[in-house]
Amino acid sequence: MKISNKIKKIIPYKLGVKIRGGWQKLMAVYYKGTKYTCPYCKKSFRKMLPGGFDFPVIKEKNIIGGGYRKNDVCPRCFSTDRDRLIYWFLKNKTDIFEKKYKVLHIAPEGCLKALLLSQKNIEYYTGDKFTKGYNAYYYDRNDVILMDVTNIPYKNNEFDIIICNHVLEHIIDDKKALSEIFRVLKPNAWAMLQVPISLKLDKTFQDDTIITPKDREKYYGQFDHVRIYGKDYKQKLEEAGFKVEIFNPVKDIFTSEDDIIKYAVNPEENIYIVHKP
Ligand SMILES: [Zn+2]
Repeated sequence: MKISNKIKKIIPYKLGVKIRGGWQKLMAVYYKGTKYTCPYCKKSFRKMLPGGFDFPVIKEKNIIGGGYRKNDVCPRCFSTDRDRLIYWFLKNKTDIFEKKYKVLHIAPEGCLKALLLSQKNIEYYTGDKFTKGYNAYYYDRNDVILMDVTNIPYKNNEFDIIICNHVLEHIIDDKKALSEIFRVLKPNAWAMLQVPISLKLDKTFQDDTIITPKDREKYYGQFDHVRIYGKDYKQKLEEAGFKVEIFNPVKDIFTSEDDIIKYAVNPEENIYIVHKP
């Protein structure tokens, strides 16, 4: 049995959440500094914590949004580089913090969930499939319902905004998932659909004979991924009926390169926004 599983047996969920909170406070003090800043917890640090997986395929294919990162995780709130990029995209390029919106957040990032829940203008819904294999057991799971993205339990044309990041690469029938997101989104509304992507690949790589966790690590870079999206990801989104907009951190989201370092984000990681016509 893995150590993390043993800990889960000994420490019950609610106590675990408390211990985790205390641990985060200690880490924030230990890593306190000025080099990096987290926009979620508003604290600054001398370094961020490392994060991500390190498999050869990730380097070889330059899978953006995956791989081992030295300064990845905020010591205080555990936001990742991806989360911090999303924050600045939402802040600088959308009015999500200003207008009244009904938002669906699928497989919620903890820090973003807390932020959206705290916004009075947002009517917030969230769901997750709670798949096995994640060590984020002691995350606060309040408000999160059990949800399968290939069968979203809401009516047509229900949401103004959907945020569904790093989900599609886990879903065998990603076409069905995209059609479900399209269905529950209101006309003229938008969704954010981030995935790990290799711009070295013209075509998405998927081989349905690759099924063991070991093989998936070897070929896709993570034990539970079912493909590596390539340059045709945009086309896949268009085939689902969406209009696609791509935002680059350097060109479109940040005005200064210093901020890319300060917030420890990946300058290569584009944001994929889809619009339902
Ligand atoms: Zn933070």
